[in-house]
Amino acid sequence: MIDYRPGDDIICIKDHSQGIVKKGQVYTAHKLQRNGCGCILLVDVGYTSDRPFTQCPVCQTNDEKTDNIWWVDARLFRRLLTRSEEEDLADVLAEVFSEELISLN
Ligand SMILES: [Zn+2]
Repeated sequence: MIDYRPGDDIICIKDHSQGIVKKGQVYTAHKLQRNGCGCILLVDVGYTSDRPFTQCPVCQTNDEKTDNIWWVDARLFRRLLTRSEEEDLADVLAEVFSEELISLN
């Protein structure tokens, strides 16, 4: 599931097969589009490529390219939480935890 939109900061959760993006590194999603065969979403994180096609990692179809963007499999990323969202999440988890403790007493 893709949980981000163009303009969001995203974090890589899996190394790219050719190493262009690495797990744990943060990128910005510039554009998103579905690939030609429709199997997956691709994201532009700011790299360029002069390869004439993009190969689908699901069905191996070669998609002819009309741009010089290095489209990367969008499943390799998740939206990066902002610091305040991380704190909110920690608060929610702490609250749930303390409620559990109370109900156990
Ligand atoms: Zn495909």
